[in-house]
Amino acid sequence: MAATRLSGGVVVTDGQRPTEGGGEAPSRRGGRGLPGVPPGETLRPSTDTIWTWLDAVPDPEIPVISLTDLGIIRDVAYEGDTLIVTVTPTYSGCPATSIINLDIETALRGHGIEQLELRRQLSPAWTTDWMTQSGRDKLEAYGIAPPQPAGGPEKCPHCGSQAVEKMSQFGSTPCKAQWRCTACLEPFDYFKCI
Ligand SMILES: [Zn+2]
Repeated sequence: MAATRLSGGVVVTDGQRPTEGGGEAPSRRGGRGLPGVPPGETLRPSTDTIWTWLDAVPDPEIPVISLTDLGIIRDVAYEGDTLIVTVTPTYSGCPATSIINLDIETALRGHGIEQLELRRQLSPAWTTDWMTQSGRDKLEAYGIAPPQPAGGPEKCPHCGSQAVEKMSQFGSTPCKAQWRCTACLEPFDYFKCI
């Protein structure tokens, strides 16, 4: 915002009319500082810093990946002094959703964030496409086959064989299915593609 100092000492910022009524002007001198950042505001962490903190918050169901790996944190922004974190649940009814919100709040408050609001955004709906590549790699290293567009695991996360078969539609949590490798005979979870 540009500010123009008139000869009379009145500061006029863009979009603001000069003071009307003549005689009032002198009383406003010095009443407004130059537009800019309030003194305390420079101390607040940047949204990049917030993202790195959220990177460290594990998914409560699969702690090997973080909430940002999962792709459910949609936005981090300040509105005034309040930090707004927008979260899209993996799917409505997932029992982990309230735990996730609590974990986000606990983590950010632990870093000194006091004014915090969590917003739930249901549309567009989360899909496994939002999972990061590093998240997929971590899942596989952990023994869980990452979601595939084909609707089933690409290969056994233990031995890499493509000889896999579905055992149960539901694994250890509702968002996973239980599969088995017919090469190494190990069962494994498949993160269902939604
Ligand atoms: Zn195998």
